[in-house]
Amino acid sequence: RAKEKGKNNIQLFSEDMAERSRKRLEIERSLRHAIERNEFFLEYQPQIDLGSHTLIGVEALIRWRHGGKTIPPLDFIPIAEETRLIITIGEWVVKEACRQIKVWDRNGLSPFTVSVNISARHFLDPNMVIRLHSIIQDAEVDPRRLCLEITEGAMEDIDNTMTMLQELEELGFRTSIDDFGTGFSSLSHLKRFPLHELKIDRSFVDGIIDDQDDRAITSTIISMAGNLELSVVAEGIETTEQLQELHGMGCQIGQGYYFSKPLTADRFNEWLSNRKSQT
Ligand code: C2E
Ligand code: MG
Ligand code: MG
Ligand code: MG
Repeated sequence: RAKEKGKNNIQLFSEDMAERSRKRLEIERSLRHAIERNEFFLEYQPQIDLGSHTLIGVEALIRWRHGGKTIPPLDFIPIAEETRLIITIGEWVVKEACRQIKVWDRNGLSPFTVSVNISARHFLDPNMVIRLHSIIQDAEVDPRRLCLEITEGAMEDIDNTMTMLQELEELGFRTSIDDFGTGFSSLSHLKRFPLHELKIDRSFVDGIIDDQDDRAITSTIISMAGNLELSVVAEGIETTEQLQELHGMGCQIGQGYYFSKPLTADRFNEWLSNRKSQT
């Protein structure tokens, strides 16, 4: 009987696997048409100066409207990363961010930075820099308005990363390490790389009040960023306590639900004008 039961389990297991790979294939197939069908859009989450409470940037986060639902990036970005689709998507994001920057500029909104997420897979593409450069040139956007967020995973190939970062630096792009502290960047490389910013991962901010280790890691990242002359952004701030604690540790910039969730461009514009009318 035990043997039979085991067999059933295996069968269930493989049905589950089959179902999952069917879903995957379906997502991959739909993803291929998502751009031409206009199914992607960006949401923007404000980044706030913790000292002056002014808006200094937004992070652009991709959304996929598909089959009546909005699919979050974690459900499709990993699938896109297994193919060249991630490159097409990454370029679409930069184009769309540039288009939005021009709209904000025409409406006389102050020139804040727009951060975009660049997948590690995309970052390792030798044509990435030249392609991004031509996108922003076509859009007539100053590269200093864009900050490219990469993860520590993109930094594994040291020589390649160095070359890419130097090229981006020469062209005037800003660069940031996202989810900092969750990977294993070597600190000696960090010192040599031409970077502008570190983003403290949300998991540390989450534990900053109750967890000694998270506090220690957060405060170490903040002082290290200071010593390396990098800006530091805390992501995932949800409470006043976290905000005060981070500000007390010397963190300059914050992002999180405490200030605002990611918003569509229209909602973001409303958010901006509400703030203006309050001050
Ligand atoms: P990320 O770049 O670290 O983005 C921050 C994520 O945290 C976003 O989730 C954001 O909505 C969420 N978040 C912000 N503040 C808070 C908070 O106070 N509390 C909580 N619980 N969450 C908060 P989202 O939009 O679902 O994106 C998840 C991840 O997907 C991103 O993490 C990024 O790695 C990836 N992603 C998003 N957009 C893109 C994109 O355009 N290209 C690529 N390659 N990856 C993207
Ligand atoms: Mg990010
Ligand atoms: Mg992040
Ligand atoms: Mg994160």
